[in-house]
Amino acid sequence: MSKKGLLIILSGPSGVGKGTIRQEILKDSSLNLFYSVSLTTREMRPGEVEGRDYYFVSDEEFDENLAEGNLLEWNRFVHNRYGTPKNKVEEKRVSGQNVLLEIDVNGTEQVFRNVEKDGLVSIFLMPPSFAELEARIRKRSTEPDEVIQERLSKAAAEMDKAKNYDYVVVNDDIEKAADKIKAIIHEKMSAE
Ligand code: 5GP
Repeated sequence: MSKKGLLIILSGPSGVGKGTIRQEILKDSSLNLFYSVSLTTREMRPGEVEGRDYYFVSDEEFDENLAEGNLLEWNRFVHNRYGTPKNKVEEKRVSGQNVLLEIDVNGTEQVFRNVEKDGLVSIFLMPPSFAELEARIRKRSTEPDEVIQERLSKAAAEMDKAKNYDYVVVNDDIEKAADKIKAIIHEKMSAE
């Protein structure tokens, strides 16, 4: 029987580049990763793909998933809700795959409370500076200024929680940061 896969949390403030890093590490088949696609009520951004980046759902659909107990964790972020579907996470881990979650700090705290510690790896991706983060958020945003301001103040609060994670990786260079994360996962895979 194969051993149970890891549950890897990749977190960090909005705009730090989690999505880019995630796509980078998913290319490495030696990591045996399954990416857990979240549900969100947010509007799709240009370049995003349904079922790859998120499952884009209505408020009603999100409510149904909550009521049916389908979510491992969920959070309200700025004006939308985001959540991790429960079913696949356990199924894939039992089959031996390593499951990757890209979630915020609040969702991470729920996972810490609700999932056994064994096989759990938490990584916080940190921007090189706050000014750099602000520039990235403004550049990609299609949202109004007040929403950007909320994202920025939330980012500052999230960065305060980095110490709760097993690892903090600074994203000053995508390739280097992705390599560091790959090395962490490889190390954990051989330690388990
Ligand atoms: P964005 O709108 O920038 O895609 O995401 C906003 C924030 O929600 C990011 O910090 C992102 O990591 C987080 N997020 C995405 N999916 C989930 C999820 O399923 N659960 C939680 N708790 N946060 C999520």
